[in-house]
Amino acid sequence: MEDFLNQLRRVNAARWEAWSEGRGEDPLFQSNEFGGEAGEVMNVVKKLEREARGWRGSRDTVEHLGDEIADAIICLDSLARSYKIDLKEAVIRKFNATSDKNDFPHKLTSEGGQKNPLTMVEDQFFAEQVPARAPFYELEQPIMGCWNVTEDINTLFVHVIEAAVGKLDNDEIANTLLGLKNLYDMKFQQMFNKYEELLKKQAGR
Ligand SMILES: [Mg+2]
Repeated sequence: MEDFLNQLRRVNAARWEAWSEGRGEDPLFQSNEFGGEAGEVMNVVKKLEREARGWRGSRDTVEHLGDEIADAIICLDSLARSYKIDLKEAVIRKFNATSDKNDFPHKLTSEGGQKNPLTMVEDQFFAEQVPARAPFYELEQPIMGCWNVTEDINTLFVHVIEAAVGKLDNDEIANTLLGLKNLYDMKFQQMFNKYEELLKKQAGR
């Protein structure tokens, strides 16, 4: 079956040819057209937000917003076509580069087309080993939270050695250590719960 973006490119090109009466690609017009449609999207959002805030003025609909977003995508396809940009490849490449740059595991793949060998190896690995990829970056926050234990111990250390020489008795030190132990028991438990939750998600349960 024909890929949707390929269909958009093919039919949109044919309509452009008819509409412009054979004038050919016109990126200056098309970029201006996209700017106009982007403004129309923003104008509908402005009216929807105005209503959401209970402010006076004209109203609009989500259905109309869908129309304007569609117009913007159609214009972008025309503009990309003028510069012979493969929209699908460009979106996949840029989306994945942004994920890599910001440490997200979310990646797009080009179904049906020739994949690069690394992507194929990765896809095969995850197909065999990991039925559904769990977002393990969600562990980052709890791990960093547990790491705070070193800073907390250092605070106590500095207090004992420098700030309060002879003023902190063994009971106070013991109580502080016990508090730290209980707090970090909870933090590690919460991190482990998160880890279990991600494992279940990964196994598709
Ligand atoms: Mg429009």
